[in-house]
Amino acid sequence: MPDDFKKMANGDTVCIIGGGPGGSACAIALNQEAAQLGLNLDIVLIEQKKFTEHRQYNQCIGVLSPPLESILKEEFGINLPFDLIVREIKKYRLHSDHFSLDLEGEEHGKSWAVHRASFDAYMLEQAKNAGTRIIHNRVTGIEIFDDEVMIFTDGDNYRAKVAVAAFGLDDGSCRIFEQSTPYKAPDFLNTVITKLEPGEEFMKKMDSTIQAFLLSFPGLEFGAITPKKDHISINIAGRKVSSDVMLQFLRSEPVQRFLPPHKRREKPLNYFRGKFPIAPAMNYYGDRYVSIGDAAGLIRPFKGKGINSAILTGMFAARCIARQGVSKSAFETFYKWDCKVFTDDLPYGKGLRFLANAGNRFKFMDQVLKIASEDKIFMACMFNCVTAHKTYKEIIRETLSIPLGYKFLVAVCRHLLSIKD
Ligand SMILES: Cc1cc2nc3c(=O)[nH]c(=O)nc-3n(C[C@H](O)[C@H](O)[C@H](O)COP(=O)(O)OP(=O)(O)OC[C@H]3O[C@@H](n4cnc5c(N)ncnc54)[C@H](O)[C@@H]3O)c2cc1C
Repeated sequence: MPDDFKKMANGDTVCIIGGGPGGSACAIALNQEAAQLGLNLDIVLIEQKKFTEHRQYNQCIGVLSPPLESILKEEFGINLPFDLIVREIKKYRLHSDHFSLDLEGEEHGKSWAVHRASFDAYMLEQAKNAGTRIIHNRVTGIEIFDDEVMIFTDGDNYRAKVAVAAFGLDDGSCRIFEQSTPYKAPDFLNTVITKLEPGEEFMKKMDSTIQAFLLSFPGLEFGAITPKKDHISINIAGRKVSSDVMLQFLRSEPVQRFLPPHKRREKPLNYFRGKFPIAPAMNYYGDRYVSIGDAAGLIRPFKGKGINSAILTGMFAARCIARQGVSKSAFETFYKWDCKVFTDDLPYGKGLRFLANAGNRFKFMDQVLKIASEDKIFMACMFNCVTAHKTYKEIIRETLSIPLGYKFLVAVCRHLLSIKD
């Protein structure tokens, strides 16, 4: 079938599965693109959760990092409303087993903590105001034909010219898509979040710093404590993290220092499990389908900014659908050019993640932080890795040098000797 056949025409339907930041951004951008091109598209977004009810959430700490504010303003004409913000995040502190380091570097904008459900509700409302039909239901099946896509839900079914998979890493949705298309869900890390409510006094005294932990105990890749308005959110990530690993994390000495004294021995009741993608999905686009955000695994493989990536990939996919069409070859362009910023950085991010895991495993993180405290360039490297303000490629290019290599060699030798002793 000629590819031209897969260009969008007046009256065509686009069906977006999932109304997280990726799905909502895709819907807003599609409405804007269609208006510019004089196309009359029927944009349907199917989302199973009702975010405004604050009963169901997308697992997240809810930190909006730069340049999200400018992306929303410049690309979507949306001003981030200040009533969504619960706190400004001002600093990052990194902890290893026995060493703590205040990260210093060049800021590229402000980071804001928000309630994730309120942010999702706001973005979905923007999609609705832009002209999207929002359907609250769960997608249960999909069939892709040469000329259309059928989407099944617990209620009505929908016919569309293209399906946008914006369902994150929802297990059931990934399976549905895998069964109907060549798509294969991305590799991921498991996450556990818990929250503590330490009381007003403690929260007032707490500085607006994200405490990030790279500790050397099994099952854990990293953890963080994030201050919100009336509570602190604590998250851990790793291949095999569980509520048990969370308890060990909470009981570890470096973490105990940041917990309110009367909560230090508490066994939290509320755990939330989630996933981070750490690699792109396979076949994440094809004739009449494209995946975005977490579903595509198009996210930095080491430190997230997943909301930013979801919004950007949603926007890129929308542009491709409206301007180029919905064939596999049209999406190829989307992958090769627009998503280059993510795909090009993958090997570098993987390399850094490997080094961080090795540092944890061989209890070398104390030395790494110590070097950063003495070496400006390496400090900038740590700052940019944790804040994700630069690409990993840029970070590595700016950091590698013979003198730094020498410092590491000396530190490794000392570490090996201390283990032997
Ligand atoms: C523990 C944790 C902490 C994080 N913290 C941050 C952070 O602080 N800052 C940041 O930028 N990123 C963070 N992230 C990453 C971020 O949450 C994701 O990258 C981002 O939400 C991806 O957006 P998305 O739209 O692709 O998918 P999602 O946000 O997962 O949205 C998918 C949507 O699809 C819906 N859906 C799924 N299946 C169906 C179906 N069958 N039918 C209908 N609807 C369906 C879901 O209900 C959901 O609303 C964190 C992730 C985790 C796990």
